[in-house]
Amino acid sequence: MTNGPVIQMPQRRRVVLLGATGSIGRQACDVIARFPQHFQLVGAVAGTDVEALRDVVERFHVERSAVVNPSDAAVLPSGCGRGLEAACEIAAMDADVVCVAITGAAALRPTLSAVDAGSVVATATKEVLVMAGELVRQRAQASGARIIPIDSEHSALWQCLRGEEMSSVRRVVLTASGGPFLTLPLTEFAGITTAQALAHPTWNMGKKITIDSATMMNKGLEIIEAHFLFDIDYPRIEVAIHPKSIVHSYVEFCDGAIVAQLGVPDMRVPIALALAGGERLADVGPPLELRGGPDLQFMAVDGQRFPAVGLARSAGERGGLHPAVLNAANEVAVESFLAGAFRFDELIPIVAEAVEQTPATQRASLDDILAADAWARQLVRAHVGHGVATA
Ligand code: MG
Repeated sequence: MTNGPVIQMPQRRRVVLLGATGSIGRQACDVIARFPQHFQLVGAVAGTDVEALRDVVERFHVERSAVVNPSDAAVLPSGCGRGLEAACEIAAMDADVVCVAITGAAALRPTLSAVDAGSVVATATKEVLVMAGELVRQRAQASGARIIPIDSEHSALWQCLRGEEMSSVRRVVLTASGGPFLTLPLTEFAGITTAQALAHPTWNMGKKITIDSATMMNKGLEIIEAHFLFDIDYPRIEVAIHPKSIVHSYVEFCDGAIVAQLGVPDMRVPIALALAGGERLADVGPPLELRGGPDLQFMAVDGQRFPAVGLARSAGERGGLHPAVLNAANEVAVESFLAGAFRFDELIPIVAEAVEQTPATQRASLDDILAADAWARQLVRAHVGHGVATA
């Protein structure tokens, strides 16, 4: 979906930002504010945070805005829409790039609106490609939309693959920091607290993705994301643990050459590259010195420590509704873990149980995907008990 030439940047790119108040959304705002000669924020959508959205609207003189789930008492900025339909309309507005930074499955419909409008879609939301990758691919083909990844590993692969033929790729390797529990004795996994799981060693991110990094489900979801983004079969997608997060991913070609993308971990680099359609802007991230520098150590993934990676790979290979169920079950399980419903080492087995019960079908329509998503959420909520996982 992504291996096109660099798009020539117009004078000022009109940017729509979906998920403007979260971790990636705020960093996207930083990038837009830093390069006013290149970017103009014309549309902004927030999930719930009305006040943070108001700041964005006023700061950037945004033309159109919406909040998906404001509280009933919230006073919205003037002209600001309310609800999912308003968000989807903004996703489809006339823009040079639509940046998707809404966490989780909630991003599906707005992303499809942007794709159907034929936009350049810069997406940080791997969950959409996991649950509906085939559908997004079909619709992007029909509308001419182009998908550009913001996820650091996939941005790295995209950079390594530019100008290359996919048929010459022997394998792509997604790097993973290994999260906070890379070396913790397995016997201590049962006692892991939410605070420990939320303390990521190299990346400062939102809560959901931080827990996914601790279980390494994040990397599992990224395997499926890579499959759909680059149209590459699962056996050629591998994972390497690289604790310093300096090499953001690498590609091995058929002649034996390896091309990697390196940098100090800073999401503003892949965000700026995606917003600019592949054009590089000056001095976005901090410089990296390799001489006498970071320890470039790589290790295989221990499947016993991180069963989420194999679980996600197998859900991807089985296809149909398995990835959507994996994603939905994981989202609810993460919310429930954060609410204290069960132990850390019970999280992935709960997701695995839902995946095992996935209804068999190979062709999945949007309705099938949404039904499977709702079913899996209900299943996990029932499993962990009522009143816990309804956040
Ligand atoms: Mg990533």
